[in-house]
Amino acid sequence: MKPDRCSFCKGKLAKGKTEFVVKVDDEILVVTNVSAYICNECGEAYYSPKESEKIDKLMKKFHKSDLLVHPLAAGELSLSEAIA
Ligand SMILES: [Zn+2]
Repeated sequence: MKPDRCSFCKGKLAKGKTEFVVKVDDEILVVTNVSAYICNECGEAYYSPKESEKIDKLMKKFHKSDLLVHPLAAGELSLSEAIA
């Protein structure tokens, strides 16, 4: 089901790109370029099941350390690149 309204503030959701930020141990991993529905009012992001799945896979890879996270400053990673 496609989200339509924000469940927090009932604001309208619009399709867009966002960042998924996760803390792993003491590192912050920022996954960029994630498609989501973003609330106009409060900025809450709702990920589609497909994107959640990708993020899931990405996290598993990351935990197994078979993902090469370039030692860059922000630990940024493009979702599409990581899964490709
Ligand atoms: Zn909202």
